[in-house]
Amino acid sequence: MSYVFVSSDKCVYYFGPDLEPVVKVDPGDIIHFKTMDCFSNQITSESQLVTDIDFSRVNPATGPVYVNGANRGDVLRVKILDIRTSDRGIIVTAPGYGVLGDKVRHARTKFCEIKDGYVYFEGIKIRYEPMIGVIGVAYDEKVPCGVPGRHGGNMDTKLIKIGSTVYLSVFKEGGLLGIGDLHAVMGDGEVCVAGCEVAGEVLVSVDIIKNIALPWPIVETEDAYYLIISKKNVEEAFKEAVDLAVKILSYSNSIEWDEAYMLASMVVDLQVSQLVDPAKTVRARIPKEYTTLKSMLKALAKQ
Ligand code: CA
Ligand code: ZN
Repeated sequence: MSYVFVSSDKCVYYFGPDLEPVVKVDPGDIIHFKTMDCFSNQITSESQLVTDIDFSRVNPATGPVYVNGANRGDVLRVKILDIRTSDRGIIVTAPGYGVLGDKVRHARTKFCEIKDGYVYFEGIKIRYEPMIGVIGVAYDEKVPCGVPGRHGGNMDTKLIKIGSTVYLSVFKEGGLLGIGDLHAVMGDGEVCVAGCEVAGEVLVSVDIIKNIALPWPIVETEDAYYLIISKKNVEEAFKEAVDLAVKILSYSNSIEWDEAYMLASMVVDLQVSQLVDPAKTVRARIPKEYTTLKSMLKALAKQ
């Protein structure tokens, strides 16, 4: 097992088929990513608006990291061991941005001080809960890092935090893992278009599960698995999430499909990750009482 550092100047703005790896690691290695904020650190004062910055440089992902032995049809297991962030966060909005973009009159940029486990916004103390907005692998199409999808990307899911594990299907040899867009805190929905955007550092370990392709990323926390589905339309995303959750419950519990549908209605929680990116991200939470990683992967591979 070795330790590998990747600096933030090694970054990509797309998860495409032709990414060049910046470093190669072995399964079991620890990778230390240094990340810029989602604006590539372009905003240095509150007078700078999100509408003023160079948009070809938003949502950088540090990497990509090639994992030896990872091939198409495998899954990359990424354990989030630690997240550290800068002590100042940035939140922005602008006309047309976010859920209520039609109501926003002027673009605004606000800095938030981060200290002693809290984010300070207008004198309001918000508990510091750092998370990863962008985590993904090389994909068959050239997808900007700001767009979430089957390869991960800008999932803006606040459960991707210290202690969680992210499972991503491998599409290209080596997987080619990239990480960026840390938030010091974010609410589900990310309604104004941003979280508390921060530069920082992420420590992960990676390994490979062979010959199991996933249709969508999965996040594992202490007590549940979450299917992370991103589509243009929220209702379609929820429908896909339920469809997969029911298949998993049926297989895991050896019950018929309609019984699993009923079970899902009693134990699965549908949740929103973000409503403001080019594709919206939702999730289905399946408590660990009703499935295991092994049966979940098998159920998903079957379909
Ligand atoms: Ca984001
Ligand atoms: Zn962000």
